[in-house]
Amino acid sequence: AAVLVTALTACGSAEKTVDKEAGAGGDNAGALIGVTMPTRTSERWISDGDNVKKQLEALGYKVDLQYAGDDIATQTQQLDNQITKKAKLLIIASIDGTAITTQLENAKANNIPVIAYDRLIRNSPNVDYYATFDNFKVGVQQATSLLTGLKVLNADGSKGSVKGPLNIELFAGSPDDNNATFFFNGAMSVLKPFIDDKTLVVKSKQTDFKTVAILRWQPKVAQERMENLLTSTYKDGAKVDGVLSPYDGLSIGILSALKSNGYGTAAQKYPVVTGQDAEAASVKSIIADEQYSTIYKDTRQLAKTTVEMADAVLKGNKPTTNNDKDYDNGVKVVPSMLLESVIVDKTNYKKELIDTGYYTEAQLGS
Ligand code: BGC
Repeated sequence: AAVLVTALTACGSAEKTVDKEAGAGGDNAGALIGVTMPTRTSERWISDGDNVKKQLEALGYKVDLQYAGDDIATQTQQLDNQITKKAKLLIIASIDGTAITTQLENAKANNIPVIAYDRLIRNSPNVDYYATFDNFKVGVQQATSLLTGLKVLNADGSKGSVKGPLNIELFAGSPDDNNATFFFNGAMSVLKPFIDDKTLVVKSKQTDFKTVAILRWQPKVAQERMENLLTSTYKDGAKVDGVLSPYDGLSIGILSALKSNGYGTAAQKYPVVTGQDAEAASVKSIIADEQYSTIYKDTRQLAKTTVEMADAVLKGNKPTTNNDKDYDNGVKVVPSMLLESVIVDKTNYKKELIDTGYYTEAQLGS
């Protein structure tokens, strides 16, 4: 069995303990908390919203949970409304991490603390805390599983049986989402030496983040880009061996472009395609030998961490953080709590996703 599994624990060796601070506590029992999520088109954000709401309500808070359909104007309006409704704290998973500075100024003026959820909010001093995963490491894991899938590496990290050259293509997430750069840089830190020594060839030569980024993480746009690559770069009959995809939704688009160009048969297998979020449709695709891997980020844990932060702040305590250096938002370094993610493929999905209760067998149809 592959040794791809790392334990799901909060990372970072030097966790800070909670310090009691004077002030704020006491009068926030039952307070309203505004929670804004980017979109319902991806399952993970639905689970995130549900988990945060449920856990806050269990602590007695009232919750206004909003989804913005990936539309920036809608999200800014939702934040304005929550401030008007006198929310005592905002939890924000932003669409464009640079587009809500005015709302945050307003929040600050009204003494409303802000926690950035999963995605860093940029260019504003008015972000108090950040709860997320180790996003650079997510990229490292995506690239590592690409190499393992290609058999360039073995699961234990040693050199695999395949020497290349192998054709790969790269995709990145939305350029306005701070995470997308972290994922891509993490992945490239692993892939670059293999590209430099020609084990891997990016046949399209498209290796620049801006060129390979998919605005708003849209599956359809990824599908179109893959179609274009197949009908131009691969017109000479060369085959794609691997695709770095940063998100399951994009992987679905990429696989469907591959399918309509003759991949996914006994004679022409799918390339190794990565992903992220362990969304049910993609886990099913992994079970069916289409997508190769995904990155599992337990949204229950992220919600729990965020709710603990919110509760601490509202009680006048200092929340626990484990990284106070890596997330500079352009104006300040935001104290962050980073969680660990896990590479999931066909060899370990049962252990990671079913045994942990993240999905039932029935949800994965397995
Ligand atoms: C999240 C990923 C997700 C992507 C698209 C990112 O900000 O960290 O988990 O795949 O957005 O929704």
